[in-house]
Amino acid sequence: MGKTILVIGAGFAGMWAALAAERLNDRESGGIEVVLVAPESTLVIRPRLYEAGAANMTAPLGPLFAATGIRFIQGHVETIRHVDNTVDIVRRDGTRSAIVYDSLILAAGSQAHRPDIPGLREYGFNVDRIDEAVALEAHCHSLAQRPASVARDTVVVAGGGFTGIEIAAEMPARLRAILGTAASPRTIVVEQAPEIGPDLGPGPRPVILQALSDLGVACRLGVSVTAMSADRVVLSDGETIETQTAIWTAGVRASPLTAQIPGERGRLGRLCVGPDLRASPGANIFAAGDTASAVTDDAGHRTLMSCQHALQLGRFAGHNAAAALLGLPPLPYRQQRYVTGLDLGPWGAVHTDGWDRRVVLTGAESKVRKEYVNRILIYPPPPDRATALAAAEPVSAQA
Ligand SMILES: Cc1cc2nc3c(=O)[nH]c(=O)nc-3n(C[C@H](O)[C@H](O)[C@H](O)COP(=O)(O)OP(=O)(O)OC[C@H]3O[C@@H](n4cnc5c(N)ncnc54)[C@H](O)[C@@H]3O)c2cc1C
Repeated sequence: MGKTILVIGAGFAGMWAALAAERLNDRESGGIEVVLVAPESTLVIRPRLYEAGAANMTAPLGPLFAATGIRFIQGHVETIRHVDNTVDIVRRDGTRSAIVYDSLILAAGSQAHRPDIPGLREYGFNVDRIDEAVALEAHCHSLAQRPASVARDTVVVAGGGFTGIEIAAEMPARLRAILGTAASPRTIVVEQAPEIGPDLGPGPRPVILQALSDLGVACRLGVSVTAMSADRVVLSDGETIETQTAIWTAGVRASPLTAQIPGERGRLGRLCVGPDLRASPGANIFAAGDTASAVTDDAGHRTLMSCQHALQLGRFAGHNAAAALLGLPPLPYRQQRYVTGLDLGPWGAVHTDGWDRRVVLTGAESKVRKEYVNRILIYPPPPDRATALAAAEPVSAQA
């Protein structure tokens, strides 16, 4: 009987892992079946969920899977029984079944982390999942039907990291379009670190501060949100901000499925994988994307929860999962280059190069590059077998 590679997740890592596994299988005439299980056969373009029109931020994967012979199973994985090489899945209609694998690739992504802050679960909006981004957008449109007030016209973004900055930069123009010129909308970013974008380092900070200032976005630094309600947030220094729209962007965690796989786990619950992207030495279990923490270069930098890394981790994990079943040596994961492209709304964007984040492009030119990445580069390949499998080669993507 042929062997099975099971991929969990149809995000950036899962899609490329399945294609890369099928590519090597095809090249070696290996007779392996590549199976992918996910709730939907669509790719959610998560890096665009801060933009308006969130409901449209998906790309179909059904035709791509059909063209490349990847078997798609709609459902979500509940349990990984690694001792039996089996996963238990729950299908959309609620029925349960088990799938036996020879190699497993965990690519179930990450999710927003909501600490135990009073009111956060009830009142905190989010742009982490597509349904959450759609709900935020619907809420913003509903504000126009409410009586004008400071709370109606104020948005608080909790978390001044990458996602917080991107959504904050969007909000002034979005609110003006919804509320009309008579309103004076305010957007306030609350960041507990003393600086905006603490993980982005000092390189792009002056550009970010200039952009936020030009857009009219205020920052409260060195304080955190300690409570939320329908019409206010409370900060750690005792200040209360009247708002009907609080957006939580402060923190993500790897999929809880990571806890079911033996192996070392790092910060954010990610599985610390070796160069072959195996999560557990000796077992045919690989991790990619936001579930994995891998060394990227000789300096020892580790992957971030980013699309940039998920796209390549997926290719290497798929290749190595197939190589393990075909008796071929693994390809050690390497991704020397690291760039950042941060959207700054109507102001433009900022691009940096390298792990020290040297600014290389700002403003309108940077925005053009960011839009190219967000609207073209990260989308799935066309549903053509030869093109899609060629694009899944990991070696060509090492730079
Ligand atoms: C607002 C926002 C902006 C961002 N901007 C950027 C950016 O500018 N640049 C950048 O590089 N990155 C950015 N990111 C991060 C990027 O989106 C993630 O790092 C990337 O999506 C990770 O890819 P992934 O394949 O690991 O996970 P995901 O894309 O999250 O995909 C996970 C997949 O697993 C499936 N899944 C989950 N649980 C199960 C289960 N139990 N069973 C089966 N399937 C399951 C999901 O349905 C999904 O198909 C941004 C993220 C957000 C939210």
